[in-house]
Amino acid sequence: MMISGVLIATAVVAGAGILIGIILGVADMKLHVDVDEKEQAILEALPGNNCGGCGFPGCSGCAAAIAKGDAPVSQCPVGGPPVAAKISEIMGVDAGDAKRMVAYVHCGGDCDKATQRYEYYGAEDCRVINQVPGAGPKTCTFGCLGGGSCVNVCQFDAIHIVNGIAVVDKEECKACGQCINICPRHLIDLIPYDATESVRCKSQDMGQAVNKYCKVGCIACHICEKNCPSGAITVENNVATIDQDKCTHCGLCAEKCPKKAIQAM
Ligand code: SF4
Ligand code: SF4
Repeated sequence: MMISGVLIATAVVAGAGILIGIILGVADMKLHVDVDEKEQAILEALPGNNCGGCGFPGCSGCAAAIAKGDAPVSQCPVGGPPVAAKISEIMGVDAGDAKRMVAYVHCGGDCDKATQRYEYYGAEDCRVINQVPGAGPKTCTFGCLGGGSCVNVCQFDAIHIVNGIAVVDKEECKACGQCINICPRHLIDLIPYDATESVRCKSQDMGQAVNKYCKVGCIACHICEKNCPSGAITVENNVATIDQDKCTHCGLCAEKCPKKAIQAM
């Protein structure tokens, strides 16, 4: 009697074990996801900042897109050319001529050069300052508000408020684009690390108005455009812009600009 009870219990336990084993086996077959070795290697090559600068939600999204061929090997701006070179090896493709890019703030109107209509006391957040009367205390409604929203969002301590305007430390910038996305004045964009001239102004006001409120604002006089030997400068909407792909770094525009709105970097 006792022995048969033991045998029954053993059979039940063994049966349950076999049944659980079968269920787990089937679940494993159904839920199994193949680990893409390339994707894994790319993920390891990426810097792991998960900053979203690549346009994907985190490094794993970027790695998956590169592995599938949906994004170029240079998709990660933070890793720059060295990481692109590693990933191109993993993918077995040419890295191309991925250039290092850095953020640049197109405003030079600091506290000494640009006028203010009133003193502002309130939240140090440019998105808030941009909403107060007159779109902030600065006379120029295109210039840097100096509230430092870009500074607060930068994970790399690469941007600082200097005398009332944001300035990028190009050695520290990883081109993640976080500052670009947050600036309510749309003053920041990426330019090549080796750019030598850029326009520190985005004001679309007429020259006469700019002259009244900023010592270094672009007055759309076209002198830079006329003097650029490579046709790299265009004046549109009352402000000059430089096509960095065409610029040959001769420095003539910076030399000729009567307002010094174009500065050698
Ligand atoms: S300054 Fe900072 S936030 Fe802006 S692109 Fe460079 S690293 Fe990113
Ligand atoms: S660059 Fe833009 S976000 Fe940064 S301080 Fe100036 S206005 Fe604010």
